[in-house]
Amino acid sequence: NRSIVLASRPYGAPTPDNFTLKQQPIPTPGQGEVLLRNIYLSLDPYMRGRMSDAPSYAKSLEIGEVMIGGTVSKIEISNNPEYQVGDWVISQAGWQDYAISNGSDLLKLDSKFPRPSYALGILGMPGFTAYMGLLDIGQPKAGETVVVAAATGPVGATVGQIAKLKGCRVVGIAGGEEKCRHAIETLGFDVCLDHYQSDLNKRLAEACPKGVDVYFENVGGKVFDAVLPLFNPKARIPVCGVISLYNATSLPEGPDRLPLLESIILKKRIRMQGFIITDDYAHRYGEFIQQMSFWVAEGKIQYREHLVDGLENAPQAFIGLLEGKNFGKLVIQIAKE
Ligand code: NDP
Repeated sequence: NRSIVLASRPYGAPTPDNFTLKQQPIPTPGQGEVLLRNIYLSLDPYMRGRMSDAPSYAKSLEIGEVMIGGTVSKIEISNNPEYQVGDWVISQAGWQDYAISNGSDLLKLDSKFPRPSYALGILGMPGFTAYMGLLDIGQPKAGETVVVAAATGPVGATVGQIAKLKGCRVVGIAGGEEKCRHAIETLGFDVCLDHYQSDLNKRLAEACPKGVDVYFENVGGKVFDAVLPLFNPKARIPVCGVISLYNATSLPEGPDRLPLLESIILKKRIRMQGFIITDDYAHRYGEFIQQMSFWVAEGKIQYREHLVDGLENAPQAFIGLLEGKNFGKLVIQIAKE
């Protein structure tokens, strides 16, 4: 059983030596337990936080602990009457080939899933995040302007497409021409701006002639700076993530702009709310999965995966995720279906 463990805590961007690949015998399930063969592993930005020992909403990983992660697995051996050999399950088995479970943390995959790996993306945690963050906190209305960055990732792409279904003007921000073309041509965004090009502030202002009503925050940093002057009165900001800051080792240079931010929030009566999908919305998963399965089946929501073969390639793929090297939902294929 190969597993990837946290070897050391990163300072700034993670590097390959923060991870170690370990070999151990395949574990044997006890009474009431199952052996999981992990097929797909989800790589997500939140894992950067768990590698750090800074206080956060969830416990840090210990040095030597297997990297955590959502997985889609097959039951290889079952000593639990609830599960048959060959069943597909959603699990939290982490960065490893096999894992043991007593079944309490497993969710059987519905046969209606177009592909098992979708349970890690559009029909899983990132899709759920986009759905609740946009609809419950963002509350988009027809005719309003919605801005979202990391626009081709599983969260951003879904936010933009739901906003289009609600009749909004959608402006995406993404890294590079190819991602921007995809956002417009495949996802149906009205505009998508490449954040690597100069004059982001000016181009964003031109793309939002009626101001910004909902800014779905995935990135922070220079993207938030560009949106800040454009907010309309009563704008909403679901704060989902600030990925541009996850590898930061100090505060950004420049004057303290907190007073400016507070005065804009006050004068424009902006509502800015952070959320953690698993903590805040677990009780609404049923509503999400019903609606999103329908949209995906009807072709109303498009979904792109970025599959990387081999558990051993997970560290490099994860490092790349924090640099925008992924194009679509990053998933490691650990084993063949
Ligand atoms: P993505 O697959 O979109 O991957 C991250 C993307 O962020 C990269 O591909 C890159 O896209 C962009 N990015 C990375 N670094 C920077 C940077 N310095 N400046 C600008 N853009 C950058 O990730 P997800 O869709 O899975 O997640 C999106 C956000 O949602 C993250 O912030 C994540 O932490 C958050 N999240 C929050 C949850 C919650 O419960 N609050 C749950 C799930 C996700 P590009 O090349 O286009 O710039």
